[in-house]
Amino acid sequence: MKKFSLWGIALMALMVFACSQEEESATPQDEVSPEILNQLKAIGFNTVDFDVKKIETGYIVERDILLTEEQIMNMSPAGTTPTEEHYSTDNLVTGTPRVISVFVNMPQRYRDATDIAIARYNAEPLNLTFQQVGSAAGADMVIQASPFWYFWFGILGSAGFPTAGGDPFNEILLTRQFYDNVVNINGLATTIAHEMGHCIGFRHTDYMDRSFSCGGAPDNEGDGGIGANYIPGTPVGPEAGSWMLACGSPEGDRPFTANDKTALNFLY
Ligand SMILES: [Zn+2]
Repeated sequence: MKKFSLWGIALMALMVFACSQEEESATPQDEVSPEILNQLKAIGFNTVDFDVKKIETGYIVERDILLTEEQIMNMSPAGTTPTEEHYSTDNLVTGTPRVISVFVNMPQRYRDATDIAIARYNAEPLNLTFQQVGSAAGADMVIQASPFWYFWFGILGSAGFPTAGGDPFNEILLTRQFYDNVVNINGLATTIAHEMGHCIGFRHTDYMDRSFSCGGAPDNEGDGGIGANYIPGTPVGPEAGSWMLACGSPEGDRPFTANDKTALNFLY
């Protein structure tokens, strides 16, 4: 026990050190207003199993989805409750065929994993292709380190949904504490492919019941006003192994399943 608490103190010291290095990062603000919380509940997001976190640019909902206050407040309550598999948002990337350029502002391991994620997408006959570029200037998407506190909440990474103007969401944040020493590079590639999936409009595959991948009580994410459109050709019920399951582990590799490929090919 003594050893354990000493270790705890050492860990705390490390965290304090980490904090002082990252003071410019946005930290979760203390309170999410009841207005926002009620609206999120009304539009069907799970605010019980996963705390909503308020940050400078908006809110992190259901662990890895970044929504702005404007997006949240403009959503209307879900009318329908889909029960099937792969889902997309109403906003998709337009102007296809299109090349999405990705700049990875992180160490080599992250660039390697991004190449694997990109290869998975580019192996499919899609109207979207991804390409890694060497500079942030003009890049459609930048991949960079998440703020230190993501680690505290077990957040592997985060992203958002496409804009109303048809552009992919422009930023993916990854939590280095989970991935700097990852043994299976494909686990990191899977998380990058997952966040890329959100950026081009994919919602979680186990949208109708996040407990499928996350454990805990059955729960429906709801339409969220951003759309939860069933993708024809995908099966009824959640699918083990889909790259868009709500929860995963740092080392877990989930390459595209046959149904994932059907969903990708339908949308793009
Ligand atoms: Zn996700």
